[in-house]
Amino acid sequence: MRYLFSCVVVFCAFSIAAFANPLSLEGHFSQGGLVTGQTSAGAKVSLNGKMVNVSPSGLFVFGFGRNAADTAVIEIILPDGSRVSRVLEIKQRKYRTQKINGLPKEMVTPSAKTLERIREEVRNIRKARSVFTMENHFKSGFIWPSKGRISGVYGSQRILNGQPRRPHLGVDIAAPSGSPVVAASSGRVTLAENDLYFTGGTIIIHHGHGLSTVYSHLSDLVVQKGDVVSRGDLIGKIGSTGRSTGPHLDWRVNWFQERLDPMLLVGPMLR
Ligand SMILES: [Zn+2]
Repeated sequence: MRYLFSCVVVFCAFSIAAFANPLSLEGHFSQGGLVTGQTSAGAKVSLNGKMVNVSPSGLFVFGFGRNAADTAVIEIILPDGSRVSRVLEIKQRKYRTQKINGLPKEMVTPSAKTLERIREEVRNIRKARSVFTMENHFKSGFIWPSKGRISGVYGSQRILNGQPRRPHLGVDIAAPSGSPVVAASSGRVTLAENDLYFTGGTIIIHHGHGLSTVYSHLSDLVVQKGDVVSRGDLIGKIGSTGRSTGPHLDWRVNWFQERLDPMLLVGPMLR
């Protein structure tokens, strides 16, 4: 764990603030990392050929998923039509894998009705993650939403009977049922559901520029869709709802559909 956090510090320090205007970038140039950028007002920005939303003041945000390639190209088109582009080197990470063999073959096959329910929930979650606004809530910074033992990390993958499962894309924080869960950053609640099939009591908070955080397996929700919350506000309580084997918070950070590593945003947990 100490090794992990020393890596985090190194990557925090690595920013391209040294670039003269019209492009300054700051954040983690790493798989799972979040980068915020500033360019000239009225400029357009693309990342790997895809347009990135830019606020009128020139602020923008992007992130790198678990398996992001080792380079990315950012291009700025200035209001006068001139272009500036940079190749970014993206740190490649090694993720924990855990092989478990000799498990009984039987698997739970959800019924048609359950499958239908899951599909609809997945659609709603994607919708809540797709929200884009120019709001700058994320500038309040990020804190741990709950304190406890880290029982699962970003990117890890289990291989059951030789079958790779979907990687885990959040941080799991184990804590007693009823422990408080707070908003990791200021924002607006875009989803608050008591009973989703996989994630049970679930809250999604939107922080602006496509950035959202997800809080799962909650026993109790104290906010509703549409509420505006400040960083540190109580939003719910730790539980074990949905598909969960014990009380914990599964905390995730997304940039649109890209899953980012929450730990890179908050650093070591002080308890
Ligand atoms: Zn989890």
